[in-house]
Amino acid sequence: MRTFIAALLFLLNLQLSAQEELDLSYYLPQDVTYNPAIPTPQEVLDFVPGEWHASHDQVLIYMYFLANTSPRISIQNRGFTYEKRPLVLLTITSEENHNNLEDIRQQHVALTEPGSENIVTSEMPVVVNQGFSIHGNEASGANAAILAAYYLAAAEGPEIEELLKNTVILFDPVFNPDGLQRFASWVNTNKSANINPDPQDREYDETWPGGRTNHYWFDMNRDWLPVQLPESRARIKTFHNWYPNVLTDHHEMGSNSSFFFQPGIPSRTHPLTPNLNQELTKEIGTYHAAALDNIGSLYYTEENYDDFYYGKGSTFPDIQGSVGILFEQGSSRGHAQETDNGILTFPFTIRNQFTAALSTLKAAKEMRVKLLDYQREFYQYARKEAENGAYIFGNSKDASSAYHLAEILKRHQIEIHELKEEYSKNGETFKPGSSYVVPKEQKHQRLLKAMFERRTEFQDSLFYDISAWSFPLAFNLDFTGEAKMNVAGQKIDSLTRPPLNFPEKNEYAYLMEWHAYEAPKALNQILNEGLRAKVAMQPFHLGNKKYDYGTIMVPAQNQKMNADEIYDFLVKVAKDAHVYISAANTGLTGGINLGSNQFRALEPQTVALIVGDGITPYDAGEIWHLFDQRYDMKITKLDIKNFSRTNLSRYTDIILSNSWGSSLGKDEAKKLKEWIRNGGTLIGYKNAANWLNENEFMDLEFKENEVQAKNVTFEERRDFRGAQGIGGAIFEVKQDRSHPINFGYKDNKIALFRDTTLFVEADSTSYKNPIRYTEEPLLSGYISEENLELLPGTVPFKHNSLGRGNVVLFTDNTNFRAFWYGTNKLLMNAIFFGDEM
Ligand SMILES: [Zn+2]
Repeated sequence: MRTFIAALLFLLNLQLSAQEELDLSYYLPQDVTYNPAIPTPQEVLDFVPGEWHASHDQVLIYMYFLANTSPRISIQNRGFTYEKRPLVLLTITSEENHNNLEDIRQQHVALTEPGSENIVTSEMPVVVNQGFSIHGNEASGANAAILAAYYLAAAEGPEIEELLKNTVILFDPVFNPDGLQRFASWVNTNKSANINPDPQDREYDETWPGGRTNHYWFDMNRDWLPVQLPESRARIKTFHNWYPNVLTDHHEMGSNSSFFFQPGIPSRTHPLTPNLNQELTKEIGTYHAAALDNIGSLYYTEENYDDFYYGKGSTFPDIQGSVGILFEQGSSRGHAQETDNGILTFPFTIRNQFTAALSTLKAAKEMRVKLLDYQREFYQYARKEAENGAYIFGNSKDASSAYHLAEILKRHQIEIHELKEEYSKNGETFKPGSSYVVPKEQKHQRLLKAMFERRTEFQDSLFYDISAWSFPLAFNLDFTGEAKMNVAGQKIDSLTRPPLNFPEKNEYAYLMEWHAYEAPKALNQILNEGLRAKVAMQPFHLGNKKYDYGTIMVPAQNQKMNADEIYDFLVKVAKDAHVYISAANTGLTGGINLGSNQFRALEPQTVALIVGDGITPYDAGEIWHLFDQRYDMKITKLDIKNFSRTNLSRYTDIILSNSWGSSLGKDEAKKLKEWIRNGGTLIGYKNAANWLNENEFMDLEFKENEVQAKNVTFEERRDFRGAQGIGGAIFEVKQDRSHPINFGYKDNKIALFRDTTLFVEADSTSYKNPIRYTEEPLLSGYISEENLELLPGTVPFKHNSLGRGNVVLFTDNTNFRAFWYGTNKLLMNAIFFGDEM
């Protein structure tokens, strides 16, 4: 009877009402039989997908059941999330292909290599990588994955056999295990037995930070290119291991929307993506359209979304001979919700995703030879069009940052070499050990171009995400694209840290320059150990060796440790943080002497970060991650809801990151001011500027963009407004290197990442503007002409003394998405040297 009702609803193209009893026939094609030996989801989980939100644990259990019972499925664990959840991958194909899988893989990868012209693609399977719910609170994807995996394991008949014979499916049921688990807990905890679609019910209003992000509140669908997170590392490894022909990424969007599939807006495709990629995307789209027509679901395409930023899952494959596809399903968020399209049930959203997963496979199977040939040609053309010569990047004062960029390149299988000998170009000097050479002629030359290029001209003025991400700028590295390959030394097969020299044991003092990326980690360990350390406010030299602003000195005398213990400890610190520490056996240095008052005593820092309702989780999470993962520094997360009864006196620094709105009120302002007057340093980011200004923490003047809509139609109004935003672009600033905020930077210019239109006027006192936008600040990315007129001469940094404490403001994000290594030091300078400003 239940089957009958479901089948009837199916035929009438009705959405299943929330109260109806679910059964698998609501989802699954009914024109095939299912192998009874394969356990159904309800046999393992005791519910039909859609009745409850499956947690990651439950998805995992079911996937292992399938892998154990179906010869079509194998499962492997590729690592763990930050919360120790396994990052599994299912490989789904025919039993015969499974017996031959490594050969199939090698032959497939050979398509991307030289000599591919002799491979007969008509006899090769196509490779599809299907992934679900990278945003954990977009759960219809992962729940559809349960059904798709069941279908692929259990369906019988000629159609599925042909599919599995011709297709290798790399099946990633949950791209974001930690986020999905968090979301499932929330929704299931608030579920009523009588499902209530009232959008005001708590079920549909997740608590902060929500399940979208991973453990450190990152949007993981921006990390495919920077690869900073463990989940991405597993995914990228799979990608390069196989080079799938199609990669799908199943998301959700606002509840009143229907269903979207790519292509997106044509004018917003990245120019490095071949036209044929978009044509293939469109052709694949006809399969989704037919399948969704068949179940009566509304959909749209070529609107809202784009294929510009290669850090997104549906765009990353497009620069590598593959076709990335984004799906967006209107979200029920919980189990059912009232929407403009009637009651939107969770099962309905799952069914659309499941349907699109199957139409993807059908398209890939039928377009198999076309997709394989496209991939082969992509790499053949890429090789042909490759330029001669090499890129070099490095930083003679900070080998660490160069190393961390090299790490990313290696994760993308990009060939890199050592630098043979010192090399200078256009005033930049590159040194072996802190520089890397990257040949332009190589397999991934297009990907490389996409990572290194600067771009300031665009076909469109709107971007779904950032418009620039040039990695040498993000890492603050010296860079040239004009070298010849004869500068290259040995090819680097496995990347290792440059070797360290340790100081001689010494009874006088030790010195550590502040340039190395991990210098703050080392200083934090030194201060926390109870050792006295000082910072040099001016440069000096010892013999031939120059020491720059910000050099840290640790005296060997009058410490709580003896000279031997200090030595052993500092060697341990140097190893752990990969920093150079040198010895000084005299205080009679050139410039300031080691006993000078221009060496200022430093204190251990105890840092807190305000989190919770109203705070942008991404920005706060980037800071938490920076302290916790990069610098091994403790940071206390203070929830805004308890702020009125929090004892602030134990913190030396409090960070207020960007917020959605007015998260802190007058009482909190008063409390924070009192704490600052007693010596605290408050560090605000981005739109905290307005709050700091209104509550008189600092006096700011803003330049306003006063562009008016002339000749703009009603239809064009959104595009007009959107074009005046800065979604994310890179700009140049000039630094006063003698100011403590700039300690550790070797030149007097750096690149900042900016995604705000706050233009703060400079102070009339020049030394109060240690960081200032240059006259031609645009380095890469989109900015409107009107905004570009406002930016020069304004300041992204402000400092104000208040009583014994400090207020510091950054209008730009110095910690963007964990890959802006180049400006992390600015925050650390505010933390450690705030009192010297
Ligand atoms: Zn999403």
